[in-house]
Amino acid sequence: MILEGRTLAQQIRAPLQERAESVRQKLGRPICLCALGSSEDYAARLYLQKETDAAKKIGIETHIFDINNYTNADGFCQAVKTLATHAQTDAVLIPRPLPEQLAFSDFANYLNPRQDIDGMSITNAGRLFLCKTWEQIKQLPGFVPCTAMAVMRLLDFHHIDLEGKEAVVIGRSSTVGRPLAHLLSCKNATVKLCHSRTDLPRAVKNADIICSAAGTPGLLKTEWLKKGAVVIDISTNWSNNMLCGDANAQELDAAGIFYSPVPGGVGPVTLAVLLENIVLSGERKI
Ligand code: NAP
Repeated sequence: MILEGRTLAQQIRAPLQERAESVRQKLGRPICLCALGSSEDYAARLYLQKETDAAKKIGIETHIFDINNYTNADGFCQAVKTLATHAQTDAVLIPRPLPEQLAFSDFANYLNPRQDIDGMSITNAGRLFLCKTWEQIKQLPGFVPCTAMAVMRLLDFHHIDLEGKEAVVIGRSSTVGRPLAHLLSCKNATVKLCHSRTDLPRAVKNADIICSAAGTPGLLKTEWLKKGAVVIDISTNWSNNMLCGDANAQELDAAGIFYSPVPGGVGPVTLAVLLENIVLSGERKI
């Protein structure tokens, strides 16, 4: 079975235009998103354009600043600090990958947690990792990284129960794998967080749910998986001019394994969660 994400994404997006309009009426201005994106990374630029176009469609005012204008961390941190104190900026987005001269740790401290719609700031990350239960996650005043939350929403939408299940997360980035492993554990899954030094065939052998975010096409082999396993493929790789994940969809299909496709799985849900967070950043100003 295919765990598609487009229907859920539509459901999440359906009320957003009306909510954004209601904020506009109460604040006397539209919700404002500022994105600091790289003009030099072609794929990242296209993706950011897709995000800001989707935001504009629901009535969000968007501004894109070129991250490549900052040749060192100091200038970039200053820009993040300026946005953090700008009362009319509701949401700030800093897509990855960052240019070589900039590191995530340089600016994570300066992001205003109220504007930090992708949960990257020290405050939002800290709040997330202090939670132990899903109830606590639901009550967080900040934001959780969108892709990790999108995976949780997709699992919930398809009624994949996590209680007591063995889950494997492949990839330990601070924006995808690490927060996802934590969210799964807050839903009472027992989680293994894997990386490039992990013996993957052994790690996934008994797993009920495998979430793959390694960014390596063909990495996750169908023959490693047990019968009844569920695969959430998060990666977006280009291979032979086609978008694909880490697993081979045809092989998963043939083996009768439930999986989320690339494209059409986690990706559209991530965009919908991002838009929802932008609207929420405005609603919290009322
Ligand atoms: P990242 O920062 O490059 O992290 C990749 C992780 O995968 C690292 O922890 C790395 O291990 C691990 N890894 C790499 N090769 C491996 C291997 N052979 N075996 C096991 N682990 C391996 O990437 P990211 O930002 O987390 O993104 C991961 C993927 O998700 C990318 O394809 C990205 O495009 C995609 N993505 C999709 C969405 C969406 O909405 N669908 C959103 C964000 C990202 P080490 O730590 O040991 O190096």
